[in-house]
Parts: sequence; structure tokens; C-alpha cells
Amino acid sequence: MGASPVSVASPVWIGLGANLGDAPAALAAAVQALGALPGTQLQRCSRLYRSAPVDAGGPDYYNAVAELHTGLAPLALLQALQAIEQAAGRERPYRNAPRTLDLDVLLWDEERIDLPQLTVPHPRLYERAFVLLPLAELRPGWASAAQLQAVAAQRIECLGAWDGLA
Ligand code: ADP
Ligand code: MG
Repeated sequence: MGASPVSVASPVWIGLGANLGDAPAALAAAVQALGALPGTQLQRCSRLYRSAPVDAGGPDYYNAVAELHTGLAPLALLQALQAIEQAAGRERPYRNAPRTLDLDVLLWDEERIDLPQLTVPHPRLYERAFVLLPLAELRPGWASAAQLQAVAAQRIECLGAWDGLA
């Protein structure tokens, strides 16, 4: 009898956001694209949220968080995320500009990553209701009551189940 297979895939949580064009459709397409990356499986996705822009103007954002298992290295995944953003028409005219698609690495298992191009946990993770709420759905009990309280004044609404869950 052989040894049981050992998984080398890491659980990774990706934050998705968009506030230009058909944002819910862009997020649904992005979830599908994430699940189609090499060596990667989509495990779960949060419900869809709508939130006010933080530190920026423009239309409301649509947000969700996806949980992947991936065998990709961190910078390879970052590069793949940026390619998916580009394919969705992402432009970066200025900081916090409205965007057709933003994909951020929120958490990589229990790891800390400090590279020039990639900081994980995401540095603004705990400041944003649009990240904490969908992430808390996938990781119940992970955010403390105090952490959730700290973002309670931010305007955000859960829109419920959506195409990304299909
Ligand atoms: P925003 O901070 O608004 O998401 P961008 O999406 O334009 O801005 O990303 C800017 C840069 O942030 C990227 O070029 C990437 O190298 C870097 N970066 C650092 N840490 C992360 C992370 N955890 N997830 C995604 N990008 C990151
Ligand atoms: Mg980003």
C-alpha cells in the first residue's frame, strides 16, 4: 500500500473588488479565472457585497473573497492575478483610482510574506469592512469582535448569493 498523498497546496484568500463597468459580472468571471489557474482549485467564495469607496471617490464597489488551494509560488500567483486584472481592462491612472477589477492576496495560509511586490497578510486587511466581512464568512471566528467593531461605521451591504458561488 502506498503512502497517502501529501498535499503541497496552500490555502490562500483573495479579495476581489470592482467599481467600473459591470462589476458583479467582472467578479464572477474573475472567480472562474482563479479556479482555472494551474495547480489551483477554487474552494469557496463569499457572498457578494456592495461598499462605499474608501479614501476615494467614484461609484460603489462590489466585493467578495475567494478561498483557493494553490500549488503556485506566491509571486507566480501575484503575476497571475495581475494578468486576470489586465484581461478585465484594469488601468492604474492614480492611487485608489476606480477599477474594473482588483485582486489582492489577503492571507496565505499562516505565512508572512515580505517581498517588495507582495506583503501578506495584506497591510490594510483589518482597516476595511469590505475585506473583513466576506473573509469572516469563510473563516468564522477569525476576526475578533473588536476588529469587526473597528470597521462598523463603514457603509457596506451584503447582496447575498451570486454567480461567483455557482
Ligand atoms: P491597491 O493597493 O489599491 O490594490 P494595486 O492593485 O494597483 O493597488 O496594487 C499595487 C501593488 O501592490 C501591486 O503592484 C503589487 O505588487 C503590490 N502588492 C503588495 N502586496 C500585495 C498583496 N498582498 N496583494 C496584491 N498586491 C500586492
Ligand atoms: Mg490590488
